[in-house]
Amino acid sequence: MDAQRPVTPPAQLAKGALRRLAAAKLEPTPANYARAYADEAGEPLPPEGLPPKARAAVDRLVMRATDDAPLRGELSAALMEARYDDLQRALDRSAAAAASAAQAWALLIDRLARGLERGARHWTGARKKESLQRVLDGSRSDARLLQQRLGQLIGAWETDQPDADVAAASSQTLPVIAADTAADLAPAAAAPAAAASPAEAPLAADQARLVDVLQATVASSLPAADARAAELADELAQLAQRVHQHGATPALADAVAEVCGRAQRWLGLRHELVDELLALCASLTGGLTDLAEDGSWARAQGERLRLQLQDGSSGSSGSSGTSARAVRAARNLLDDARASQRALHSERQYARDALKQMVRQVLSELGDLSGATGRFSDKVNGYAQVIEAADSLASLAELVRELLGESQAVHQLVDAARERLASEHARGSALEVKVLGLEAELRRLADEVSTDVLTQVANRRGLAQAFAQESARSARDGAEVAPLAVGLIDIDNFKKLNDSLGHAAGDVALQSLAARVREWLRPVDHIARFGGEEFVVLLPATPRSEGQQVLTRLQRRLSASLFMHEGREVFVTFSAGVTVWRPGETVEAALARADEGLYEAKRTGKNRTCIA
Ligand code: GH3
Ligand code: MG
Ligand code: MG
Repeated sequence: MDAQRPVTPPAQLAKGALRRLAAAKLEPTPANYARAYADEAGEPLPPEGLPPKARAAVDRLVMRATDDAPLRGELSAALMEARYDDLQRALDRSAAAAASAAQAWALLIDRLARGLERGARHWTGARKKESLQRVLDGSRSDARLLQQRLGQLIGAWETDQPDADVAAASSQTLPVIAADTAADLAPAAAAPAAAASPAEAPLAADQARLVDVLQATVASSLPAADARAAELADELAQLAQRVHQHGATPALADAVAEVCGRAQRWLGLRHELVDELLALCASLTGGLTDLAEDGSWARAQGERLRLQLQDGSSGSSGSSGTSARAVRAARNLLDDARASQRALHSERQYARDALKQMVRQVLSELGDLSGATGRFSDKVNGYAQVIEAADSLASLAELVRELLGESQAVHQLVDAARERLASEHARGSALEVKVLGLEAELRRLADEVSTDVLTQVANRRGLAQAFAQESARSARDGAEVAPLAVGLIDIDNFKKLNDSLGHAAGDVALQSLAARVREWLRPVDHIARFGGEEFVVLLPATPRSEGQQVLTRLQRRLSASLFMHEGREVFVTFSAGVTVWRPGETVEAALARADEGLYEAKRTGKNRTCIA
């Protein structure tokens, strides 16, 4: 500092510094103010940021913050140059990148776990493990590469691509992976993959997966049995393939939009068809109810059917799964009703034939009787004349003896006819009682209160009561503390069992399964027959994963046991889906979710439990 210069008071220097800032139209940030103050005081500028020797330490610090090279550069520069706002922004970006990387890993691990469990045509369990090992061995030193290759491998499992396809897809979608690694992804040694052409713009792995998943989803909603739908699915698959090869170009986007538009129209019509079919079912059931006599079993069945369909279409869960389930249950109900009707019909036919036979018998008896009595009265007339003309006691006595003989024969004939008529009458009455009993049984079945007659566990009404009780308890104690697990069980290959061993064996299997599950569950748990060969279990205070364990244990115990039918050993297994009730939702909504797990269990090999 110049000793000759008079010392300016700091307050004045501060005012001067503010004036300088205003004149230069600068914001009064700490750095600007410090510079203006130094100018005002005639002092050298304070050094900005960190000295160069801090660089190595800053770089090491930044290395720990993120893997992203450009972000590292920004962080180092902002720290060295003391640009704290920029530093803050770069740190925010690094935190967001770390969170999304964790999210991506979580998704990938979830897909990996599902992929390992899922059955597939081209990928056996051993092949999956082998290819996974190769990817791990080849990329464990580079997290990004590992993530990319795993995504590619799991994508191949999910779409069940055969070996050659995977090798080709790897080369197209993973330009960073060397050709030999792309071949590694295939389950068996595949042909070496060609390097991506620089003229092409292949998709990044995530985008490629997105395209695959979307295309597979749309394709799965287009049934292969319908030629028009299959054609649309093929067109979409070809477009997806072209997107893989060339990236998303405007022309391809237009083509995809056009095919998707057609697919939407087709699906719209399909939805309309489903709605129309449901309406037709409702009309049919309405007709059945109207035609049936008051208080008859047919009316009760019709009413049950109508409620069944209403449950499905009112969509308390809003899911089409519920409708499909309701329609299936309605179909089973109709099948049951038809079987019962057939039994009743043949009983009625038998009763009618027997009555006809009886009337015929009575007529012939009457004929015989009138013949006999006619003969008798002729004879009596004849005898009367003979009596008139009888001239001796001996001849008269002879006549009376003959007359007595004749009347005795008529008596015997009348007695026999009366006996026969009485027995025919008793037979007719017994048949009538039987038919009435059958009708009453059908009415009772339809009106059954809460127990399933065949299996003696709760029926749908019993389930509704148990659910009301248990969901209220879970809500009261807190769904977190006392979660209510809801499981849906469906016997595997039951139709085959019925077909090979007979319906009676099927019934015994249902009874046996219900009894065993009832016995193996805790006393606080509930089991109900939901319809046909489907059962529902409610497990109070049981988290979802524990619910899965409970059902899996039941499956293992059931697989290890058998039941006997007509001296033959019969094995029964079941598949199940399990979920946890969400406060406020209906039992149908929870079951629709459990049904998704059940579907997954059936799809991936049966005799297992999946969570949803
Ligand atoms: P999946 O493993 O896919 O479940 O095949 P599945 O054969 O078990 O399934 P599907 O739904 O095709 O067949 C169910 C069969 O259950 C059809 C029906 O005849 C039979 N069924 C339904 N209720 C009863 C019943 O009360 N007694 C008997 N014996 N069979 C029944
Ligand atoms: Mg079923
Ligand atoms: Mg089944």
